[in-house]
Amino acid sequence: MPTLITGGAGYIGSHMVLDLLATGEPVIVLDDLSTGFARLVPPNVTLIRGDIGDTGLVGTIIKSHAIDAVLHFAAKIVVPDSMTDPLGYYLNNTSKARNLIEAAVNGGVKDFIFSSTAAVYGEARDMPVSEETPASPVSPYGRSKLMVEWMLQDAIRAYGLNAMILRYFNVAGADPEGRTGQSTPRATHLIKTASEAATGKRDGMSVFGTDYPTPDGTCIRDYIHVSDLARAHRLALHYMRAGGQGTVLNCAYGHGYSVMDVIKTVKRVSGIDFPVTFTERRAGDPPEIVATGAKLRTLLGWVPAYDDLETIVAHALAWERHEAAM
Ligand code: UDP
Repeated sequence: MPTLITGGAGYIGSHMVLDLLATGEPVIVLDDLSTGFARLVPPNVTLIRGDIGDTGLVGTIIKSHAIDAVLHFAAKIVVPDSMTDPLGYYLNNTSKARNLIEAAVNGGVKDFIFSSTAAVYGEARDMPVSEETPASPVSPYGRSKLMVEWMLQDAIRAYGLNAMILRYFNVAGADPEGRTGQSTPRATHLIKTASEAATGKRDGMSVFGTDYPTPDGTCIRDYIHVSDLARAHRLALHYMRAGGQGTVLNCAYGHGYSVMDVIKTVKRVSGIDFPVTFTERRAGDPPEIVATGAKLRTLLGWVPAYDDLETIVAHALAWERHEAAM
């Protein structure tokens, strides 16, 4: 039975498609192509252009393709945008997810994997955060995702849906074979913007805040390679299919790098000394988010293949050069 991947034409979703195809698992992609690209979906995969909030459409897809598992990636993901457009984020990430869950429940879907985020932890005082750290998001983005976690927990109790909640830390890098990567226009994420600066797509970049309570004054994040993240989903799916109960899992390596660490690495790996300016803090940025990362390894037997900042950066740069040559 095929798995439905929402947002499969997007950054993380397109890596998920490749990961499942590599193990012979059939997939169907549902994507509205608002930020995704049809060219990132392999030609032998069915891509349905549509809205995850359209319960009629999703119900038809589930029925006609006998879908028994949904991997839900489609969402808006830019924290600062969520500060200026909270209702847009609650519509896309929360209301539409509610409809998707309803269609999944009504269609008899057994397993549901949800892309949640470390942003649900907000400004957690104790680092690293574990899955037991209380959720206290500081941005509409984090809140828009946390509400879906709650809906899923209620759906588990009420309807017997099995759901895994994966809280992503900072996802970066690109397919090591160069088949897909992050193509988002006006990207805001750090490794992407630094890679764009290194390859000349932008003139330079800014560091948002140098007065945080961290060793070098810039924010610390736990960066995870997108292909390792996709594999975590596959393991989660197999775990649930084998009868394992869904739970909350942090997806991270368990160690952090500062904004300056990342910029220095991108400069070193690319060999380009691009201009960097130092500006004010960006609204909604917690100083540090690092995970324990242990539960994912213990429960699913996940062993990361690319836990190395230079490798993550090298793959991101390779994709950036590929995009520039197109
Ligand atoms: N950041 C930065 N310059 C940029 C992009 C990001 O200084 O051009 C900082 C940002 O303020 C945060 C960290 O890099 O402290 C990670 O931000 P990103 O947007 O990549 O991910 P987030 O943690 O917000 O999800």
